[in-house]
Amino acid sequence: MATVDLHFHSTASDGALPAAEVARRAGERGATLIALTDHDCLAGLKEAREAALAAGVDFLNGVEVSVTWNSRHTIHIVGLGIDPDHPGLVEGLAGIRAGRVNRAREMSDALAKLGIEGAFDGAMALCDNPEMIGRTHFARFLVGSGHVKDVKTVFRKFLTPGKPGYVPHVWANLADAVGWIVAAGGIAVIAHPGRYDFGRTLTERLILDFKDAGGQGIEVSSGSHSLDDRLKYALIAKQYELLASAGSDFHAPGEGGRDVGYTDDLPPICRPVWNELHERIIRARQP
Ligand code: AMP
Ligand code: MN
Ligand code: MN
Ligand code: MN
Repeated sequence: MATVDLHFHSTASDGALPAAEVARRAGERGATLIALTDHDCLAGLKEAREAALAAGVDFLNGVEVSVTWNSRHTIHIVGLGIDPDHPGLVEGLAGIRAGRVNRAREMSDALAKLGIEGAFDGAMALCDNPEMIGRTHFARFLVGSGHVKDVKTVFRKFLTPGKPGYVPHVWANLADAVGWIVAAGGIAVIAHPGRYDFGRTLTERLILDFKDAGGQGIEVSSGSHSLDDRLKYALIAKQYELLASAGSDFHAPGEGGRDVGYTDDLPPICRPVWNELHERIIRARQP
């Protein structure tokens, strides 16, 4: 197990724990280097960074940007080692967040047609930062109100493409998202490639577009990857000369998936992205 975790969430987006708490939890579970990567939002970074450093854990500022690629595929791009005050990044993310409340109203209307009332208010009540309202908050509302037994089932039955509560949305384009991250001094990383269900051709097209835009990394070790995924993307990282990243994608205790603070080891053929981020790592102890 590696004690590096460069992908997880706080209540600044759709995580269930406040930023300081999730950073401390990572430290308690043995992490030595972490990055908080909330969706489209930098609001938790200061708190997480202070808590990490106080707990003796090295920290990278991170973000996970929602992208619509090729006009129809939703993918996520993680940015690591970013400057959270970079105006281009700050403005770009604000633009993505702007559409979430309207989308949530449409989701709520769709659910009402299925006889599920009050989903907008119910989801909002579970969301710390209204402009970050998203599918996970709706999923938690549907579980909490007794409509569905768990979050996974909500997504499968209601909130994924083709299901009745799913509302398509246009996020950032790939070149913009990667451009903001690079301009802010960070390294862009394709998040959880194993979740996209792309065949070989589409995966290759994504990687080539991503590299053209200035992207350099891909998650090889992810809470949502099987062992087979890890080996597959290690080989892909080598083939396309991408740096390899590792992250739990932790959201909430007991919601399935990995806990925060550690990740499966990268296969030895990988070049770890954190080796290229020495100057961006905020160190708990000066060397
Ligand atoms: P949104 O940005 O509002 O579209 O929500 C996306 C978030 O929903 C992801 O970051 C995950 O946290 C969660 N999510 C997406 N698909 C699933 C799934 N099949 N099971 C559980 N959570 C999911
Ligand atoms: Mn999420
Ligand atoms: Mn994601
Ligand atoms: Mn994530």
